[in-house]
Amino acid sequence: MTELEKAGSELSQAASPKTIYLSEYRKPVYLLDSVELRFDLHETRTRVYSRLAFRRAPDAETQAPLKLDGNRLELQALKLNGETLAPDRYVLDDDRLVIENPGPCFELEVETQINPQANTALEGLYLSSGMFCTQCEAEGFRRITYFPDRPDVMSRYSVTVVADKQKYPVLLSNGNRQEAGELDDGRHWVKWQDPSLKPSYLFALVAGDLACQKDSFTTMNGREVSLQLFTEAENIHKCDHALMSLKQAMKWDEDTYGREYDLDIYMIVAVNDFNMGAMENKGLNVFNASCVLASPETATDQDYYRIQSIIAHEYFHNWSGNRVTCRDWFQLSLKEGFTVFRDQEFSADLNSRAVQRIDDVNILRAHQFAEDAGPMAHPVRPDHYIEISNFYTVTVYNKGAEVVRMLCNILGREGFHKGTDLYFSRHDGQAVMTDDFVKALEDANAIELKQFRNWYSQAGTPELTVNESYDAEAQKYSLTIRQHCPSTPGQNEKKPFHIPLAMGLIGRSGKPLPLSLENTNTSEAKLEQMLDLTMPEQHWTFSGVEEKPVLSLGRGFTAPVKLSLPHDDEALAFLFARDTDEFNRWDAGQKLAIKIALKLMNDYSAGKALQLEPMFIEAYRSNLNNSVLDKALVAQALSLPSEFYLADQCATVDVEAIHAVREFMRRQLAEALADDWLRLFEENNVPLAYRFNAQDMAQRSLKNLCLSYLMELDSLDQNKVGYRQRCLQQFQKGDNMTDVLAALSILSQHDVAERQQVLDDFYNKWKHDRQVVEKWFAIQAASPLPGALTRVQALMQHPAFSIKNPNLVRSLIGRFCATNPVNFHLLDGSGSRFLAEQVLVLDELNPQIAARLLQNLSRWRRFDQTRQLLMREQLERIAEHQGLSKDVYEIAGRSLEG
Ligand SMILES: [Zn+2]
Repeated sequence: MTELEKAGSELSQAASPKTIYLSEYRKPVYLLDSVELRFDLHETRTRVYSRLAFRRAPDAETQAPLKLDGNRLELQALKLNGETLAPDRYVLDDDRLVIENPGPCFELEVETQINPQANTALEGLYLSSGMFCTQCEAEGFRRITYFPDRPDVMSRYSVTVVADKQKYPVLLSNGNRQEAGELDDGRHWVKWQDPSLKPSYLFALVAGDLACQKDSFTTMNGREVSLQLFTEAENIHKCDHALMSLKQAMKWDEDTYGREYDLDIYMIVAVNDFNMGAMENKGLNVFNASCVLASPETATDQDYYRIQSIIAHEYFHNWSGNRVTCRDWFQLSLKEGFTVFRDQEFSADLNSRAVQRIDDVNILRAHQFAEDAGPMAHPVRPDHYIEISNFYTVTVYNKGAEVVRMLCNILGREGFHKGTDLYFSRHDGQAVMTDDFVKALEDANAIELKQFRNWYSQAGTPELTVNESYDAEAQKYSLTIRQHCPSTPGQNEKKPFHIPLAMGLIGRSGKPLPLSLENTNTSEAKLEQMLDLTMPEQHWTFSGVEEKPVLSLGRGFTAPVKLSLPHDDEALAFLFARDTDEFNRWDAGQKLAIKIALKLMNDYSAGKALQLEPMFIEAYRSNLNNSVLDKALVAQALSLPSEFYLADQCATVDVEAIHAVREFMRRQLAEALADDWLRLFEENNVPLAYRFNAQDMAQRSLKNLCLSYLMELDSLDQNKVGYRQRCLQQFQKGDNMTDVLAALSILSQHDVAERQQVLDDFYNKWKHDRQVVEKWFAIQAASPLPGALTRVQALMQHPAFSIKNPNLVRSLIGRFCATNPVNFHLLDGSGSRFLAEQVLVLDELNPQIAARLLQNLSRWRRFDQTRQLLMREQLERIAEHQGLSKDVYEIAGRSLEG
C-alpha cells in the first residue's frame, strides 16, 4: 500500500469513536512557518481562505503524507505551490484531508465554506446574539479550515476579516491591528497580525456591533498596554469591575512571578452563548458574559469574586498556557492546574486567604473526590480519551492545582519561584509536558522529585490513617501515618505518593506547643512542621512535649487527601474553638458535623427520633459569639457540610436521609441559637453603599447566613418576631443583588404564601437582563420544595428559556440535576428519565453540554438498589441510541463499564 492508500483505509474505518492514547503520541511531520487567513463573513456561508507555509521537520520521513484535520467543512479549492491539486493527489474524509508527498517545503492554499449560523455546538466559528465569535480549544479550529489542529504546531498568524460594515462594525482577531479598509459593496475589512507564536487553539475572531470600554496599564518596564472590553452597548456600564480586576492581575503577575504582558493591546469580549467560562486566546480573550459583566444591582458578591478570579486566570494563561503551551491534550493540566493555582493565590492575596482556601477545598471535596471515586476517575495527566472535551474536569483543573500547590509546599515559596522562573525561560515559545514543569522545579532546586510524579500518573484520592501516642513520663509524642489509595478504573495497584502535611500540636490551654522532631539536624523548635510522607507507613516522634497535646494535621490543606484522625468529638470541638490555623479550625467543625450527621442518619434510617447533641450546639454558639474571628470565616464555620460532601462519606448514598438530617440539624441550630442569629443579623444589617471588598463581603455573607437560619423558624414564629418580614423587606428594599438574591433564594426554599409573588416580581423587574434571568431560573431549579421537576419542565416553556443557550441549560436543567438531589432522585425515576431525554435532545445541538449533563448519572453505583436500576436504565437507553456524539458516547460507555 502506498502511504496515501494506507491513510485512506484508516479513514474509512473510523465508524465507532476511536480511543486516543498518550503512548501513541508522534511528533508533527510538517511544521508551519506562517499562516495567512482571510475570512469573508456571512451568517450561513462564510468563506475561509488560508495560505499555509509548511516545512518538513528535519528528522521526519521524506515520503510522509500531510495529514490535516477538518470537520464539517465544504472544501472549495485546494492548491499546492500555486497549482490546483488533482483529486488523485489527496483523500478527503469526514475529519481528515490527506495529501500525498507534498515535498520538503511548500505552500498550501485551502478554501473552505462553513455555516456559522447552523453551528449550535459552539465550537469553531459561530453566531451568538448577532455577533460572530470563535471557540477553538481544544479542537474547534478544524471546524474553520483544514489544518494541523494540534497544540504542538505553533505558527505566526496574519488574519483579514471582511464583513458587512453596518451589522459588524467591530472586527477583531489576535495580535495588533495592521490595516483596515472599505469595499464597494458596504463591506469593510481589518487586518490583524499576531507577532507571537501560537497553536491553533489560541486563535480567535470576533465580529459584531459592540461597544468598547477602554483603560490602560503601564507594565513594570514602562510599556503602555491598551485594555479594551467589548460588549453589547446596553451592558457597557458593567465593565468596570472586570477592567479593575485585569489591572490587579497584571500587577500581581509582575510582582509575584516577574511576568510582564507582551503585546500592546489586551482585548476581552463578552459573549452570550459560550460553552465554558472564558477562553485565553492570545490578546483576545472571549468571555461568557456571566463571567465578566457586573454591576452592584445585577451581580452578587460571588459573581464579583468569580469575575475577579476568572479575569486573572485567563490573563495568567498568557504565560502559563500561551507562551509556554501543551505538547498534546494529555498535558492539559500543565496549563490548567498551574493557572488555577495561580488564580487561587491571587484571590487569596487580594481577599481572605483562609476563606479562599475553604472555597478551594469545598469544590475539591464535593466534586473532585467524587470524580476520583467514580467511573470517570482519571489521573491529573490522563493517558487515554475518546473526546478531549470530556477531560476539562475538576481533576485536571482543581486537583492539578493542588498538585502544583504541593510542589510549592515541598520547595518553599522561594524555591518554587526559582523553579517557575527557570520553567518560563527554558520553555518560552515551546509546547511541553507536565514532566518538563516538574523537571524545571527539580533543576532549579537541585532536588529529585521522582516519587512526586505519581500524582500526575495515578488517579484516586489517597486515604491516610493517623495514630498517635503520648508518653507523659518521657514527654514524647509519636505519630504514625499510613497511606492507601483505592483502586480506580485501569489502576488496581498504586505506588505510594509523596504527601506534604503541615502539622502543629496544641496544648490544653489552646497554646501551640513547640515542635522538636527526633532524628533531625535542626535543634530549633518551631510551632509548625511540614511532614513528608513518602512511605506506605511512617513514624515521627517529637520530644519535650510537656502535656498531652491535640494534633492539628493537614493545616491549610497541604495535600488533596482524606484524613482519618484519631480525634473524638471532644477533640474536634476543641480544635473548632481553638485551632490557630484558620483552615483547620473550620475543618474541625466540618468533621464534627459529619460525625454527628452520620450518627443521625443511622437513627433516621432506624426510625428513631432525632436529637442534636448539646455539645454541638455549644460549639456553634462559641463560634457565633466570637467577635475576634473574621466574619467571613465565622460564616463559613457556621455552614454545615454540603449534601454532596455528606454523600461522599456514606457507603451507600441515602438522599432522603442526608437531606432530612441536614435540614434537621439546621432547624435545631436555628431554634437553639435563635437569639444569637437575630442579634448577629441586626448587627450586620447596616445600610452601606455597595463596595466590593473582603470586609463588606464578609459582613453580607454572615448577615445572609443568619437570615437563612432565622427563616427556618418562620413556621414557629408565634411571638411574631417577623423573620419572614425581614426576609421580604430585604428582598424589596435591598439595593444590591447579593442581598436581594439571598432573600429571594431563602424565600424560594420555603413554602410560604409570598413565594410565587416574589419570584414573579423579580422576573418582571429584571426580564431585560440575561445574567439576572439566569439566576432566576437557577434559584427555582435548586429549590428542594416538592414538585421541582414539574416546575423545571414548565420553566423550559418560558419565553426567556432557550435550550440552545448553555448558560440557561446550566441554570435550569443542570442546576436541577446536579444540586437538587431530593427531587432529582425521586423513586418514580422521573429525574433520571428527564435527564436522559434532555441529553438526547442536547446531543444533537451541543455535545459538550450534553456530556456534562450526563455526568450526573455516572456515579449511579453509589446509590441504593432501586435508584441504581433507575439510573442504569437511562444510561443504557442513551448508550443504545444511534448516532451519539463522541462526547456522550464516552461518558455513557465509561459509566456503564466495570
Ligand atoms: Zn484555564
